[in-house]
Amino acid sequence: MPRVGFVSLGCPKALVDSEQVLTRLNSEGYKTVSDYAAADLVIVNTCGFIDEAIDESLEAIGEALAENGRVIVTGCLGAREAGDYVRQRHPRVLAVTGPHAAEEVMAAVHRYLPRVHSPFVDLIPDHGVKLTPSHYAYLKISEGCNHRCSFCIIPSMRGDLVSRPIGEVLREAESLVKAGVRELLVISQDTSAYGVDRRYRTDFVGGRPVRTRLGELARELAALGAWVRLHYVYPYPSIDAILPLMAETTLDGQKRLLPYLDVPFQHASPRILKLMKRPASGEKNIERIQAWRSICPDLTLRSTFIVGFPGETEAEFEELLAFLRTARLDRVGCFAYSPVEGAAANDLPGAVPDAVKEERRERLMAVQAQISEARLRERIGRTIEVIVDDVQDNIAVARSWADAPEIDGLVHIQNGADLRVGQILRVRVVEATEHDLIALRLDDEVIRRNDRQEDT
Ligand code: SF4
Repeated sequence: MPRVGFVSLGCPKALVDSEQVLTRLNSEGYKTVSDYAAADLVIVNTCGFIDEAIDESLEAIGEALAENGRVIVTGCLGAREAGDYVRQRHPRVLAVTGPHAAEEVMAAVHRYLPRVHSPFVDLIPDHGVKLTPSHYAYLKISEGCNHRCSFCIIPSMRGDLVSRPIGEVLREAESLVKAGVRELLVISQDTSAYGVDRRYRTDFVGGRPVRTRLGELARELAALGAWVRLHYVYPYPSIDAILPLMAETTLDGQKRLLPYLDVPFQHASPRILKLMKRPASGEKNIERIQAWRSICPDLTLRSTFIVGFPGETEAEFEELLAFLRTARLDRVGCFAYSPVEGAAANDLPGAVPDAVKEERRERLMAVQAQISEARLRERIGRTIEVIVDDVQDNIAVARSWADAPEIDGLVHIQNGADLRVGQILRVRVVEATEHDLIALRLDDEVIRRNDRQEDT
């Protein structure tokens, strides 16, 4: 059991902060001890109200450092000069937070003294409670967003981008994989911006320095052995560097960082993208897509679009259709613009009538249906890897690298009776429908039978 010493100074408000941290420590299985020598680290909750209290707090930190050596500082003194006041006087402290910061204190404790999961005493699994099936899990890497798209009110509800330190994300991912998760779905509001708010600060992963940045995160996650799928990526030049990793194939033939990108383009007309205030609206998206595909020919691209945005003309809508025909995206979702209360776009002139919005949505989906179908047909005859989601009678319902759960298509394996949920295997595609693929398990007998049928 990891042991934590606690020194609580200051007023009743500070005392309540101490109680909150102690409650969290106890609920997570940390033991609190009253002896510096018996503790694995010490938390000092400080006061910064008057000079006397400041001196007492600095003295307490100094004593904890001398007696134990591993000290996390929290409380009012920690807020002075954003922590620098304490760090200048005691540079050896592990971390400094302000008052009322139980989450930050616990994050520092997790970093410097990871808790040990005990299946006998913990009420919840090491990776927390998950609502997804046990073989895949969403991995949230940040909260909030620094953009201000005119149709969106998420930043006003969730605030600016706050990225989780890479060490924390990787620890969660590791515990998920240990618990049997075979596919990690990386999510955020803007995955490409991961780490910008932390200035890509270096964190420690198993004692190794790793920067909090998407490229490093993708590489580290890919090394865990599960499938890794990136959602909500914007077409910035920085994404180019990740494509070679997607193109790599490991020795057992399995791609770990899936060649799949969920890029919400939303429109193709530069004027509309500007009115939408979209991130990367100035990028040359067709050229970028072509460059990505030249590095990684198997890349699957999913996107979403909004039609009927205020002021969208028929010509601009046609521009969007032309983009789709050239880009040949694999999967596309489309929404008719809906004026969310509080969104800046509602004040733009040129509201498009509902009937026109709906008609444009249907036209877009009809164009895309042909493209998606053609893209699927290109997979007939290929051997692909799939992950099994469900087995019913003789048919196993699976997904390939090109299919995220819930939003993309499926692969129906016709001879899949004895497959297990979460199993990853290679299958041969024999047919394509509008959205899904039909496949056969790849074993010698099946291949022989299949080949005979093709010969005749
Ligand atoms: S739509 Fe724009 S503002 Fe809203 S979360 Fe996405 S990137 Fe951020």
